[in-house]
Order: sequence, then structure tokens, then C-alpha cells
Amino acid sequence: MLVDVHAHLTYEKFDEDLDEVIGRFKGIIITNGTFVEDNRKVLELAKKYSNVKPALGIYPEHVLEMNDDGLKEELKFIEDSKPVAIGEVGLDGTYGDMDKQVFWFKEFIKLSNKLEIPIIVHTRKAEAKVVEVLEEMKAKKVVLHCFSGSMKLVEKAEKLGYNFSVPVIITYLDHFKELVKKVSITKLLTETDAPFLSNVKGSRNEPMNVAITVKEIAKLKGMDSIEVENSILMNYKKLFN
Ligand SMILES: [Zn+2]
Repeated sequence: MLVDVHAHLTYEKFDEDLDEVIGRFKGIIITNGTFVEDNRKVLELAKKYSNVKPALGIYPEHVLEMNDDGLKEELKFIEDSKPVAIGEVGLDGTYGDMDKQVFWFKEFIKLSNKLEIPIIVHTRKAEAKVVEVLEEMKAKKVVLHCFSGSMKLVEKAEKLGYNFSVPVIITYLDHFKELVKKVSITKLLTETDAPFLSNVKGSRNEPMNVAITVKEIAKLKGMDSIEVENSILMNYKKLFN
């Protein structure tokens, strides 16, 4: 069974044909919330489709738009909603005010530790800081989504026990090929970030495309696709259950 640990099925690009998109993927999808209203939609979808699981969080850009009371309230909502993971959360150097981002990222890490569920982490132009904060906060179950940090950072993160979810754009980005070769198969997961990050530039991504990543990982690791699929499913079960 295939696994997509990071998608956004609530986004309007899926408004027209969500049933079909979910129907043609015979696997598990973790759909990630990125803002207050989105988190409610994620929970609705997870209720409606048995193979869709909810991750709840606030994306860094939206953290910066909210006030502290609103964020506190949303963390409480997330805790009460019993998601399978915290996500999408993280740090993003393109949005500024890193102090506020770091403060709330730490709160999300504390919550994931408390609930003993994984934290699905976004990072852009802040990769070293993300790893530093996760280490400082003793984050226990970490999924680094679409991680673009250096191989030195990849090595450090793997030593800390973190997992990497590999995007479909591995087909044309050498960085992810290198990452897959470097990291143990026991620390790899698959993701799409659908509707974003398609392997065909400009087209909509969808969960069934994780099969492309599985094939690519198999090639790079010298394994059978089915072996890779089973390993990733095992990694998923170990981490999320
Ligand atoms: Zn995402």
C-alpha cells in the first residue's frame, strides 16, 4: 500500500473532482492543515474518507498573520481534535519575523511531544535553524517534508532520528536523489504536497503520484518497487501508530 504523508486535499484545485482523486489512489493520505479554517476542512475530509488522515497546524506565513491569543486558541483546538500528526508547521526565511515563528514552532513541537504524534515540518531558507530548534526541544517524531538543507544537515537530522518525506520532484531535482542515496530506507517516507510540486511543471499534483517517487527510490537504492513500498508503509506505521 502506498502512502502520501503530505498533501493538501482541502485546496480549491481539488474542488471539482476530489472523489475521483481520492478514489484512484489506493493508499493512505495525510492531508495537512495550514490555517484555522483549513484545519476544520481537514477534519471534515478525514471524517468523510476512511483513507484520509488529518494533520493539523498553522503554516509559518499564517502564524505571522495571527495574534498570540488566536494561536493559543488554535493550539488548544488542535490538541482537542486528536489529529494523527501536527502539520504543516515550521520555519520559513522568506516571510520574516523569525522570533515569532520560532516561538510558535516550539509550541507545536511541545504539543507533538505531549500527544506523542509526529510533527510534519516545512522549512525554506531556515533549514539549519529548524534542525537546531527541533534538537533543542527534543522533538521525538519528526518528518522533514521536502527538505532542501545541505547533505551535512541531512546527515545531522538523520542522526537525530528524523524522517524525510521525499517529493515527486525527485524526478528532476538531483538534491533529492542525493538525499535518498544518503539516508537509510528506514527513515524515508513519500509525499506529494499536492496540489503543488508536480513532477510535470505547471500541472496539478495528486496523491497517486507517490508511485513515481517509489520507483525512483527503488532505482536509486537498487531495490524492487514493491520492497520500497513495503518499507515505506512500515516506516509510516511505526511513526504514526
Ligand atoms: Zn505543504
